[in-house]
Amino acid sequence: MAMSEKLRKIFIGGAWVESAGDQLQEVFNPATGEVIAHTPRGSEVDVDRAVQAARRAFDAGWGEAPPKERSLALLRLAALVEEHGEELAQLESQNVGKPISPTLSEEIPPTVDALRFFASAARCLEGRSAGEYAAGFTSMIRREPVGVVGSIAPWNYPLQMAVWKLGPALAAGNTVVLKPSEWTPLTALRLAELAAEVLPPGVLNVITGDGEPVGAGIVRHPGVGMVSLTGDVGTGKEVAKAASQTLKRVHLELGGKAPVVVFDDCDVEATVEGIKVGAFFNSGQDCTAAARVLVSDRRYEDFVAELLPAVDGLRVGDPSDPATEMGPVVSSEQLERVGGFVDRAVAGGGQVLAGGAVIGQPGYWYQPTVVLPEGQSSEIVQREVFGPVITVQRFSDEETAIAWANDVDYGLAASVWTRDVGRAMRVSRRLNFGTVWVNTHIVLVSEMPHGGFKQSGYGKDLSSYSFEEYTRIKHVMVALD
Ligand code: NAD
Repeated sequence: MAMSEKLRKIFIGGAWVESAGDQLQEVFNPATGEVIAHTPRGSEVDVDRAVQAARRAFDAGWGEAPPKERSLALLRLAALVEEHGEELAQLESQNVGKPISPTLSEEIPPTVDALRFFASAARCLEGRSAGEYAAGFTSMIRREPVGVVGSIAPWNYPLQMAVWKLGPALAAGNTVVLKPSEWTPLTALRLAELAAEVLPPGVLNVITGDGEPVGAGIVRHPGVGMVSLTGDVGTGKEVAKAASQTLKRVHLELGGKAPVVVFDDCDVEATVEGIKVGAFFNSGQDCTAAARVLVSDRRYEDFVAELLPAVDGLRVGDPSDPATEMGPVVSSEQLERVGGFVDRAVAGGGQVLAGGAVIGQPGYWYQPTVVLPEGQSSEIVQREVFGPVITVQRFSDEETAIAWANDVDYGLAASVWTRDVGRAMRVSRRLNFGTVWVNTHIVLVSEMPHGGFKQSGYGKDLSSYSFEEYTRIKHVMVALD
């Protein structure tokens, strides 16, 4: 079957099957605006079929398989993703508009690594203790899989987000129904096809389609024991509310508005480079993007004088050109949204210091942009733009820097730039964010948790913390007589 034919189907029970939905969705290349595929607009009937297939796979033994078997299967999947890395990077680049070089070097290897990490974690799961806590009884803790996990992914890192979800879920013995974003389903479908070579049928199922009915259908389904969403704060609230009807466990990785706190003793060159990468990687469509640059008064003028040419000099262009640093944004809706934020900031008294306009060519292009906002309460400071736009603000002292940094609804990630170790420790302790980087930004490792505070959600991705969240704890007590 040709790939274009396969993509008109969904992946359930280890095979491509017809969707019960009777409509197809256009999938675009954001660099050109051209339609590159059609995928099904799935239905709630599809959700039910996928949940049943996942349940059968769970009952058939995936959940009870010795950890080493699940580990081996995930290691094989990691090897397949690595082997097909070039192909997956090309697909991701075409579907999201990502420049090919950083996709190959910065996205595929950590995706493979996350699978390997969770393959190892599968063999290290443990209950905390076993012993006699009442005379005549032995207690023990079992950590068990939850059952069928529903995973709902966003469009900014379709492959990586899928793996962050299915890695810990499968390693812990759950089976998965995955819904990729309706805009970027291509790599998740290819991943499911690859996974079918090494996983039993039904362990991983992928349904394409809209938030309603597919995503919401997964959340509503009584056969789903847990839902993990990476997406917008508003979607997170809807998912949490809907999940309350069946009281299923919810894991939410939502938006961010990361502050970058630049003190006067920073290494300017390294800080500017850190912002350039941290803010404009993936066209700024990153929940941890270095979006709010707060600069000490004492360095403000010369710092901004270094920052603006670095931003202006970003190589924006054809994602398939290995020299390209930044591509388009993902869709015409996103382009409009990004432009809207900048236009409203200017109308409200803000000033554009670099960029600030749509790039007039086919596809969805916006210039790398720096805005001097009107103030801390302005919309462009308070809300996630999710595009190649940053703000710069000047602060007078450490207290103000910390207060402004914390003064948003989000709490996902932040960075501090200083050579003073004491200050780095002090400020990172007081920043109300799930990740605080010192003299770097955006770097992730499989062993360490990624997840937010406040309205950035709850639950962790990556690390053993994530792995444990995909398990349930059972106390077994045995009478000794
Ligand atoms: P989105 O919330 O619009 O969509 C995310 C997914 O949820 C999609 O698959 C969508 O179809 C689905 N969905 C929409 N409505 C739903 C509903 N009512 N019930 C169930 N599912 C529903 O988000 P997006 O625009 O795809 O992604 C961008 C957002 O994701 C940004 O806010 C970004 O910060 C966030 N994000 C967070 C992280 C993190 O780790 N915290 C990582 C990447 C992206």
